[in-house]
Amino acid sequence: APSLELIKAHIRDIPDFPHAGILFKDITPLLNHREAFAAAVAGLCAPYRDAGVDHVVGLEARGFIFGAPVAMELGAGFVPARKAGKLPSDTIDQSYDLEYGTATVEIHADAITPGSRVLIVDDVLATGGTGRAAVDLVRKAGGTVVGFSVLMELSALHGRGKLPDVELHTLLSV
Ligand code: 5GP
Repeated sequence: APSLELIKAHIRDIPDFPHAGILFKDITPLLNHREAFAAAVAGLCAPYRDAGVDHVVGLEARGFIFGAPVAMELGAGFVPARKAGKLPSDTIDQSYDLEYGTATVEIHADAITPGSRVLIVDDVLATGGTGRAAVDLVRKAGGTVVGFSVLMELSALHGRGKLPDVELHTLLSV
């Protein structure tokens, strides 16, 4: 599909960022290309146009950039899922393991009402730890996870394997 080629052409590899040995997928050229950005947002939305999505949860920080226009296009509200300590009101949280230590994601406790239909959005699925935590967090809040829509899946890291119970939609798999 031509739009997938356009998207792919605007994601660049940055070696040794943020640490030696990591090949980072930089999506900023995509954001800065009007047609590629629009194609990415349309692709993230596509399977969910008739899914009755009430809320889009975007994962800090690049999930905010893609999640907000996805929410607008689906006629849904936007909910930021943030790293611990950033949200000002009462929160619910979910911790997950990193290679060294743990991390925590939070949403506002009143952001998702029980029975809400939720689409989670992020830019990259790597090990799947962040996505797993986000799914568990939404369910803890009483939401139904309609899907997890991601721009790019790094298949060698097997993140998909951590999400067997989720409708996972990825535009690109590398
Ligand atoms: P995971 O928890 O699946 O290992 O990592 C996914 C999270 O880290 C996502 O929120 C994503 O934004 C970020 N991430 C990990 N690797 C990359 C990468 O190569 N490029 C970008 N843009 N984000 C990444």
